[in-house]
Amino acid sequence: MSIPASQSLPPSADSAVAPAGGTVTDRLVEANKQYAAAFTDPGMDARPVLKVAVVACMDARLDLHDALGLSLGDCHTIRNAGGVVTDDIIRSLTISQRALGTRSVVLIHHTGCGLLSLTEDFRHELAAEVGQRPNWAVEAFKDLDEDVRQSIERVRTSPFLLHTDDVRGFVFDVTTGLLREVHPTEPK
Ligand SMILES: [Zn+2]
Repeated sequence: MSIPASQSLPPSADSAVAPAGGTVTDRLVEANKQYAAAFTDPGMDARPVLKVAVVACMDARLDLHDALGLSLGDCHTIRNAGGVVTDDIIRSLTISQRALGTRSVVLIHHTGCGLLSLTEDFRHELAAEVGQRPNWAVEAFKDLDEDVRQSIERVRTSPFLLHTDDVRGFVFDVTTGLLREVHPTEPK
């Protein structure tokens, strides 16, 4: 996935973003040829080895496999803006658990998330601009820990999931690389 240092170019150079005359997608396709050349079929089943699904923000600074010591085939990674538990995340988790055998859920938000600076106004402004109201919520948040707790709660209370006993939430610090666990509010 990463380019050896000897071949990499400064990120500011245009050629680091796209090959001459090509788009960034062309660059990815080119990288894939090299990946495939060295690839051997691991002969894996689609069921994650560690029986875990990780739900995380799509943030480019969060390398889940490296950050969590994961290898190919270990887990399901389900990502969206914010790593918030939306209906579509529940859809994926339901399939992950019921069809592909996962049992544990790990939720990861992170410091410096783009959703911290947005509000539902984003949705209203978008509707005003394009003349169509999106049927999704922005799911912006002001408090990371509170949103992790909200996400834990959404997973734990989902009627569709088979396993809700091992659901843990964390905030990843993009400056230290460290996870900090957020404990759910104790039921009253
Ligand atoms: Zn984020």
